[in-house]
Amino acid sequence: MNKKTVRDIEVEGKRVLVRVDFNVPLDEEGHITDDTRIRAALPTIQYLLDHGAAVILMSHLGRPKGKVVEKLRMAPVAVRLSELLQRPVQLAPDCVGPQVEELARALQPGQVLLLENLRFHAEEEQNDPAFARRLAALGDLYVNDAFGTAHRAHASTEGVTHYLPGVAGFLMEKELNFLGAALENPRRPFVAVIGGAKVSDKIAVLERLLTLADALLIGGGMANTFLKAEGYEVGASLVEEGKLDVARDLLMRARERKLELVLPVDVVIADRFAPDAQWRVVPRDQVEPGWRILDIGLETVAAFRQVLEKAQTIVWNGTLGVAEMPAFARGTKAVIEILAACTARGATTVIGGGDSAAAVEQAGAADKMTHVSTGGGASLEFLEGRILPGVAALQDR
Ligand code: ADP
Ligand code: MG
Repeated sequence: MNKKTVRDIEVEGKRVLVRVDFNVPLDEEGHITDDTRIRAALPTIQYLLDHGAAVILMSHLGRPKGKVVEKLRMAPVAVRLSELLQRPVQLAPDCVGPQVEELARALQPGQVLLLENLRFHAEEEQNDPAFARRLAALGDLYVNDAFGTAHRAHASTEGVTHYLPGVAGFLMEKELNFLGAALENPRRPFVAVIGGAKVSDKIAVLERLLTLADALLIGGGMANTFLKAEGYEVGASLVEEGKLDVARDLLMRARERKLELVLPVDVVIADRFAPDAQWRVVPRDQVEPGWRILDIGLETVAAFRQVLEKAQTIVWNGTLGVAEMPAFARGTKAVIEILAACTARGATTVIGGGDSAAAVEQAGAADKMTHVSTGGGASLEFLEGRILPGVAALQDR
């Protein structure tokens, strides 16, 4: 990672403005149902407090779309954070303005101020320069620890760096190190497992991995488009007719590059897209008209295992079936088990993507992987080789 981190700067006596990702899930009553994201930011916050900084935290929560939405106030986050840090957390009435500036100015080393939801202001997502300047006025230094929003050029992720020197927090550093190392200097064989609903979501990733990986294992809804491109009947499965040519082209180039590309050899077909649908497992050339492919079968899992067993680096993005429905989560679960075993024998396993990370969490396997990215969309864009504006804006080492 060629960006400066909090370790590279003097923070003592400074007011440090930190962009965190406190976009936690809330239930109907506004209770936090999962505090993983708050916990993930603790190392950076704790480091800054231990090194004599006053910490001003800012985040978005939900999608208030530029207006104050009572249910999306940061109050429950302040309470939870205070419990985790075991110290008081002050909650600001807004994220900019004279009152907030007054609170920020009065903040002492070791104290924490949490700003109100950034997205109560439309200027945040518009990356409005005047708004970014008002945020910047609150601190002496800026730290970005919100990898999950680093792919967006917003006032709190990019705009603010025009007015304050910016460095990476520990979570940001960890994400960039693991994702970066996996792609830039992988121990080989390097195997990529790609699933998810649609080819169109993953074209850029497939393109990139085609040039980097030694093998590509394809599952999920998007495998249907590849199967159809190869001439198989896929019944009523999700297929992108407009992407058949793209699929054919990718298959051809994979062959030219002598890259091992594995498509499902058997599939779970269902009579409806529903959790209680009737289903059975069939070879890929026996998909019945009217039925739809919702998962990979055991033979496919075995074929994937053969390739994965030899891998030294594995990157996985996109569930291999409709993992939200238990009946069609088996393929994904089986691959998670294989990846856990690969990690245990010393392979590097990196998981990107919101749904894939959720499947790993649900299987209780998060600590059996080398790295599970906290950034859904951001990790996908990183895998695509795109420059993340929130990262590019930080100071080079
Ligand atoms: P990630 O969030 O990890 O990047 P994606 O969002 O690309 O993953 O893929 C997950 C989505 O793909 C889920 O909503 C899942 O239901 C869908 N999906 C996977 N397999 C199929 C399938 N065979 N048919 C339809 N949808 C599928
Ligand atoms: Mg997703």
